[in-house]
Amino acid sequence: MNTELELLMPGGSLEKIKYAIAYGADAVYAGVPRYSLRARENEFFDIDLVKEAIDFVHARGKKIYLTANIYAHNNKINSFMDAMKEMVDLKPDAFIMTDPGLIALTKDKFPEAVIHLSTQANNTNWAQVKFWKDYGIERAILARELRIEEIKEIHEKVPGIELEAFVHGSICMAYSGRCLLSNYLSYRDANQGTCSHTCRWGFKVQANDAARGKRADGQTQFDDVATDYIPLDGDFYLEEKERPGEMMPIDEDEYGTYIMNSKDLCGIDYMTQLRDAGIISFKVEGRNKTEYYASIVARAYRRGLDAIANGQELPDEIRDWMLAEVATTANRGFIPGFYPRNAKAAAQELERSHAIQTHLYAARVVAYDKNSQVACLDVKNRMDEGDELTVITCDQGEFTQPFTNAYYGGHPEAIKFSEETFDLDPVNRAKKFNEVKIEATSHAHGGGKYVYMKMQRDMGANPTMSVLRMIYKDAQTLKKNRPEMIAERDAAVV
Ligand code: SF4
Repeated sequence: MNTELELLMPGGSLEKIKYAIAYGADAVYAGVPRYSLRARENEFFDIDLVKEAIDFVHARGKKIYLTANIYAHNNKINSFMDAMKEMVDLKPDAFIMTDPGLIALTKDKFPEAVIHLSTQANNTNWAQVKFWKDYGIERAILARELRIEEIKEIHEKVPGIELEAFVHGSICMAYSGRCLLSNYLSYRDANQGTCSHTCRWGFKVQANDAARGKRADGQTQFDDVATDYIPLDGDFYLEEKERPGEMMPIDEDEYGTYIMNSKDLCGIDYMTQLRDAGIISFKVEGRNKTEYYASIVARAYRRGLDAIANGQELPDEIRDWMLAEVATTANRGFIPGFYPRNAKAAAQELERSHAIQTHLYAARVVAYDKNSQVACLDVKNRMDEGDELTVITCDQGEFTQPFTNAYYGGHPEAIKFSEETFDLDPVNRAKKFNEVKIEATSHAHGGGKYVYMKMQRDMGANPTMSVLRMIYKDAQTLKKNRPEMIAERDAAVV
């Protein structure tokens, strides 16, 4: 049984796994083709890619767990077991599973397979965890709904099993992720791995004919144009028929209403308590998030876990740095989940569903010419001449420099990029055959086009694991943004 603290990062693709490992993950989790939740965002439909990911992780002395946590219908059992056979042969470090029937079949057929019990199994009490430990399960991934005292009690009553808990990422508003909402509204079943995040959708308050004309200007409120939105006249409430008089206010603005949109989990302030309560694996959610998220969140929690590994408290300076770092990634505002208590209304972001963050993911380095210090950048968000960028490397710290001395099609100072670089970029493939010119540019757009920029410092031994970020500049750079988000951002940055 593992007793060392583990940072477990999401591995939505081989690329993201590489970033997570480079920035400090001890282990990653990735989906078994077709049989994990998040199946639609899962790159690993191809068994060869799964094998490549496992080999990559093992070559670096890290671990990889494969998620196979669907609740299966009868007609999926045979194909599931066929898929498991292929996966077992690849020797991942564990399978994350939920369905008791599938677990029994897997243990029977592949006794060598290590199984971690998914959080979808609602691991909310010690009796259940004891049941699964006695059954031979090596690790329980605890329900997000638990308080720290409950985790402690589970650990004290069932000491011989590894405990894993989520510390960071999006939270599903459904109980342990078990939800029919997505299935009902978009025919995509969350329990079969195809959730459409329906709880994040914006809903509009509508009225029937009798209630039309209630707007202050006498018009009806049925169009979808935010710019001429006029508030509904009066207050609106939901009243459940068995609870007369208990009024639940519903409100909307020009963008609608977000009645089930949970804020994101951030457990930085509870890491030491979770450690003391018996958690050994600190799990981050977000298989469909960016390489930037994988890098920055891994780097932040790596530093935090290293600081508390020997029983110490988390120093304030590291805690503050971690909070500032995770705030640079897309988020809906943070809460500590249920660890201290039930956050109730504070857990919901009712005003909007889109992400807030202090910084933008500007670019990632996909190739680097050491002699000239020119980097080839895969641009993620618009950068303009003079924008201050923070360049974050996986092994050489970070530095700032402006966006300047940038070119499309190559760079006049670059001596040599590897052949692979040319393969990456159609523009450069053409350039190789002298078909395009190198052109100076004062800005770069996202959307897959590469830009070449002279870096002001050497990028170290692993330049292509570097990511660049920049602070939000103005409302124009924020798609679908609203003025109060800018104000929030400015307050957060100060
Ligand atoms: S729709 Fe929302 S609550 Fe339901 S499973 Fe998906 S993320 Fe969870």
